[in-house]
Amino acid sequence: MSVLIAGSLALDNIETPDDRVEDAAGGSASFALVAASFFGPVQLVGVVGDDFPQAHLDFFRSRGVDLQGLQRLPGPTFRWAGKYLPGLNERVTLCTELNVSSQYQPKVPESFRRPEAVFLANDHPRLQRQVLDQVEKTGLVICDTMNLWINTAREELQALLPRVDILMLNDEEARLLSGEVSLLKAGRKILGAGPRAVIIKKGEHGSFLVSADQIFLAPAYPLEQIKDPTGAGDTFAGAFAGSLAQEGGLRGTPFRWCPHLKRAMVRGTVLASFTVEEFSFDRLRRLSEKEIEERVQRLREMVSFD
Ligand code: AMP
Repeated sequence: MSVLIAGSLALDNIETPDDRVEDAAGGSASFALVAASFFGPVQLVGVVGDDFPQAHLDFFRSRGVDLQGLQRLPGPTFRWAGKYLPGLNERVTLCTELNVSSQYQPKVPESFRRPEAVFLANDHPRLQRQVLDQVEKTGLVICDTMNLWINTAREELQALLPRVDILMLNDEEARLLSGEVSLLKAGRKILGAGPRAVIIKKGEHGSFLVSADQIFLAPAYPLEQIKDPTGAGDTFAGAFAGSLAQEGGLRGTPFRWCPHLKRAMVRGTVLASFTVEEFSFDRLRRLSEKEIEERVQRLREMVSFD
């Protein structure tokens, strides 16, 4: 029941209105794999440079992540810097340095080629395709992307979409990709490009899934204090993918009748609520299954009515 996760492993510099951190462990795959590891075995495909601290890799291993698909290349690791505006709802990217990831070619080890689910975390669509090309069989392909790739690699992204079961993106990216203002229209238009479902993440306003025959809304877990929203989307997606893999993917079930999907969205929401409480994935390092279950239960109570 393993999930294969491919994406960026990064060192991040982050500024929030109250605090800042340098060289924090980040990257789309890092957040996703830590989140997914709460639900079952994870296989990582990615790249780091020679400056990526071994301690982070040891932590991934301690979470049961199989690192056979990780390459360490000479040179600096992918770096990203971002700054949040007051309110933490808006973020400006200060710099993106691809570094070793610009000369990297993903290699999926033989033993990773038949995973229950594949999660293509945010990365260049060319790298996402190269990973998918090496997967022989899987029950489910989930893919995330961002505005940078929609703007600079739109054709490669469009070519990937017919091979994707579930596409994840945030509200701004959904509008950019579809050209629609209404998020429901945007989701439906993107469905026409290939995926069986689209999940649109709306930050503190939660997320929703749209497929041909259903819409499911997952509100964000309400928090009194947020330290750093970085990685919330990747955490959501990793927990979503890990949860679906744990429950056997979708295996031909029509989306409409699949309770696994809804559970996976709620688990994603809850894991993301922990990530934003601290920098990097520090809060997830000491997260317990009991704490996850408690928030799932509280969320259930907050949204259920007759
Ligand atoms: P999120 O807050 O969920 O959008 O994820 C933020 C993480 O994505 C950071 O840790 C960054 O290192 C990583 N990231 C930012 N830009 C990119 C990019 N262009 N490709 C891959 N990963 C990225």
